[in-house]
Amino acid sequence: MKKIFLLAVMATLSLHFPGSAQCPEALMRYSDRYPAAEAQDLYKLVFQDLYGPGHLISDSATSARYIADEVANMGNTDAFPLYEYTLCDSHFVRVNLALVRSGVLPLDKFVSSLLRSTEGLPAPDGRFVLSHSDAFKSAYHPHYRIVRRDIFENEILPLLSAAGTPAGRHAGRPQNVILIIGDGMGVPQVYASVVAQRANRSAFLRFPVSGFSRTYSRNRYRTDSSAGGTALTTGHKVDNYHVNWGPEAQRYNTIFDDAQRQDMSTGFVVTSSVLDATPAATYGHVPYRKMFDTLSLQMAQCGHSVMMGGGYKYFLPQNRKDGLAPLDTLATRGYTVLRTLDDARAFQGDRMVALLYDGDPLTEPARGDMLRPAAMKAIEMLQRNPQGFALMIEGSQIDWACHNNDSAYLRAELADFELMLHAVLDFAERDGHTLVVVTADHETGGVTLPDGNIEQGVNEVRFLWGDHTGCMVPVFAYGPGAQTFSGIQENTDIPAKIRKLMKL
Ligand SMILES: [Zn+2]
Repeated sequence: MKKIFLLAVMATLSLHFPGSAQCPEALMRYSDRYPAAEAQDLYKLVFQDLYGPGHLISDSATSARYIADEVANMGNTDAFPLYEYTLCDSHFVRVNLALVRSGVLPLDKFVSSLLRSTEGLPAPDGRFVLSHSDAFKSAYHPHYRIVRRDIFENEILPLLSAAGTPAGRHAGRPQNVILIIGDGMGVPQVYASVVAQRANRSAFLRFPVSGFSRTYSRNRYRTDSSAGGTALTTGHKVDNYHVNWGPEAQRYNTIFDDAQRQDMSTGFVVTSSVLDATPAATYGHVPYRKMFDTLSLQMAQCGHSVMMGGGYKYFLPQNRKDGLAPLDTLATRGYTVLRTLDDARAFQGDRMVALLYDGDPLTEPARGDMLRPAAMKAIEMLQRNPQGFALMIEGSQIDWACHNNDSAYLRAELADFELMLHAVLDFAERDGHTLVVVTADHETGGVTLPDGNIEQGVNEVRFLWGDHTGCMVPVFAYGPGAQTFSGIQENTDIPAKIRKLMKL
């Protein structure tokens, strides 16, 4: 994978910081100052402990360049998948913010200085985000004066947003949204995954924003996946077993319908049948989730560009009460229906349905690495649309493992989910215009973790029962607008926020 090293530097610092001038001598000084052993610690702190991959924050071009070179020299760039360097300097920012506020410095000049790269070329929109922590500062760079995240988020971003600069638009309005649902994935499931990944390798740790979602349905303290999915895709609480279907038989619009109306591309990838409740909540309208004949016809008409999962048998006339052939409908609507992951990955067209299993996809680990490549294929197809896209990805079987009270199955499904999550976040970091929201429709199993071993990545997993519970579930967000997903929210707030952010 090609790594893009982008250095966005703040303005000419030489007046304030003689040491950070962009010259070979300065670079050599930095190299001398930070011998390899210390640099290694530095990378660990920056990449793993503080920010996760993708964010190197430094106050000068030279030190960032040095670290970039060191990481490259380590020959281990996979461990540090960097895509951009973001640099900023708090002294510069404070001085210039004051000048902007007093009207002396035009905002656009301030922004262009924020976006200036080491080569003196403008950096792409929104690629300058920065920050730093006091812990980092005192541990490694006591002489640095670096902008803190709170200054950036509370002072700079609002100025940019108010002025409608490109960076401000980027900060406020995502072009794409990826809604990721871990079915049945409550806080204990997430924590089990964080522990199992060890050494801070969990993808969940890469999210800068987290919150909670209340999952109760219109008629039950404990939701099922139809009402849970409906809440997340339409913004309406409905009765259990209803899919995008109101109490007066209303057909509720989904964020995917709204996205299509704005000429965006849409789709889903799941590890269940494509007719299961959660994927159905991206396209279907039925009063009972098991109306597979109806759902398959609705799916064929829904306009998603890419749909991937299991459930091929439901599309065959001999397995249907209505005797119809939705595969024909799919063909007339321009879809290519594929049966293997390899064929799906090689597909070059614009409309694909991948029905990779006759019924439900295999369980992990037998299923192998399917969710991640399927999700990345969907992203590859959808991102061709310059209007943007909306994609739902579901780790469907986290729920099933918990229904079965099977901790090994749960562990394997969570590991699979982590792989997908890392890949999606890598994409979102590269892209810069994608909002990623991860949540669950409900918790399953009443999972708790009475004991374990952090160093060995081992959890003792106990289950209360084989059904869902009414607990709040976690929400994680990354990308433009992510901060709006913090705090305790209704599950129905999540699509409302997506609509608002994306102006759907
Ligand atoms: Zn369930």
